[in-house]
Amino acid sequence: MIFHDTETIVAPATAVGGALCVIRISGKEAIAICDNIFQGRKPLSEAKTATLHYGNIVDGGVVVDDVVVSVFRAPHSYTGEDSIEISAHGSRYIVNKILSLITHQGARIAEAGEFTRRAFLAGRMDLSQAEAVADIIASSSQAAHAIASTQMRGAYSDELRALREELIRITSLLELELDFSEEDVEFANRDELRNLLNTILNKVNSLANSFSLGNALKEGIMVAIAGRPNVGKSTLLNRLAGEDRAMVSDIAGTTRDTIEITTNIDGVTYRFIDTAGMHSTNDRLEQMGIERTEQALRKARIILWMQDCNECHSSMEDFSPTPNQTLLRVVNKIDLMEGHHTPSAQDELVPTFYISAKSGEGVDKLIEEFKSLTNASSAYEGEVIVSSQRHYDALIQSRTALQSALNALNAGISSDLLSEDIRQVMHHIGTITGEITSDDILKSIFSKF
Ligand code: GDP
Repeated sequence: MIFHDTETIVAPATAVGGALCVIRISGKEAIAICDNIFQGRKPLSEAKTATLHYGNIVDGGVVVDDVVVSVFRAPHSYTGEDSIEISAHGSRYIVNKILSLITHQGARIAEAGEFTRRAFLAGRMDLSQAEAVADIIASSSQAAHAIASTQMRGAYSDELRALREELIRITSLLELELDFSEEDVEFANRDELRNLLNTILNKVNSLANSFSLGNALKEGIMVAIAGRPNVGKSTLLNRLAGEDRAMVSDIAGTTRDTIEITTNIDGVTYRFIDTAGMHSTNDRLEQMGIERTEQALRKARIILWMQDCNECHSSMEDFSPTPNQTLLRVVNKIDLMEGHHTPSAQDELVPTFYISAKSGEGVDKLIEEFKSLTNASSAYEGEVIVSSQRHYDALIQSRTALQSALNALNAGISSDLLSEDIRQVMHHIGTITGEITSDDILKSIFSKF
């Protein structure tokens, strides 16, 4: 534990304006402070943990509100400290009045994330679980919720703890060798060590690789719709969003800037970006739009390259997706096509979808393709998926140290250098769960609450 909090803190736990509002108090004085402003059947100081008490909040004999007070005694509370939750009516006046009564008794208003920070410092949860609390509050889709929920329930920490335990076992064997350095003994069997390091490296790799999906599911899967002016990008965007949000017109270059629409498909958030048409122009405004298009194309996970069916035999614009991106060719306006389309050579090169953005024909198949590319099912099945940039960075640093340890091992380098590399891996993994931490890291994490 880094420091002990001695002050009692208070804050509303719910947004004011609903029928009810919950005000939380945590700290040594929580119960005594509440007793000074609460009148129930008996004093809260006599209450058992996890009990509810009906009564009034009073200000010098005047009733402010009738409330229900929950009492949680240390260590059986969220923060691990004595805690009170007051359920009052959600009027701004009542909430402010109760807060001011409590602060007059010596409590102070909590900082962002302070209840959860205290829970972490009291060992009620590890750091990755505490971060998941913020993610779960912010989750706006089923997939983002599933990832945060797995992390909050500790599946993630269990995997990391298991890794750390293996590493501790290796280092203790290596360090035992140091004590006997003159005798040239090897307690840690080198083949076994190599296997173990490789197993850990695989695990770290698979966690790091899950970040691309985890981050996309948390932030929303970015799908860029690109193509020449007038091919029907805005029309497709409107169909996908189910509402008329982008401007549709048949004057080339109408979509001057990128327009983003966020929509939810089967529990996953998609961020569709209608980009400005890619064509050479002297118009300054359009030029800026095109630059933003290029930015959107770089960030997108899926790129839809749209063509008009009347021009679909013209060559594809020159665009090469990165390994993390999927390029899909979308041939639009098939309602204007006479008879059946004849597949072109491009159909073989890039997965191609024939649609009518206007009538909706073929759009379902395109959506099915988004779903299969996204593969959100692993999140729902409780698989551990990394969605935090901080965790990803720590995993990449662990990977570098692991590779360096393996190189040292293969080169027959002495056990002290080897164990130093392994200590580095333990350090970086420890920063994820909070075994290794600093005030700065904690500040930056909990200020996001
Ligand atoms: P953008 O410049 O690529 O965004 O193209 P728009 O979505 O603004 O569409 C340009 C024109 O094509 C508009 O008049 C649309 O109504 C029309 N359009 C778009 N999709 C279709 C389609 O599937 N079929 C037909 N017949 N017209 C379409």
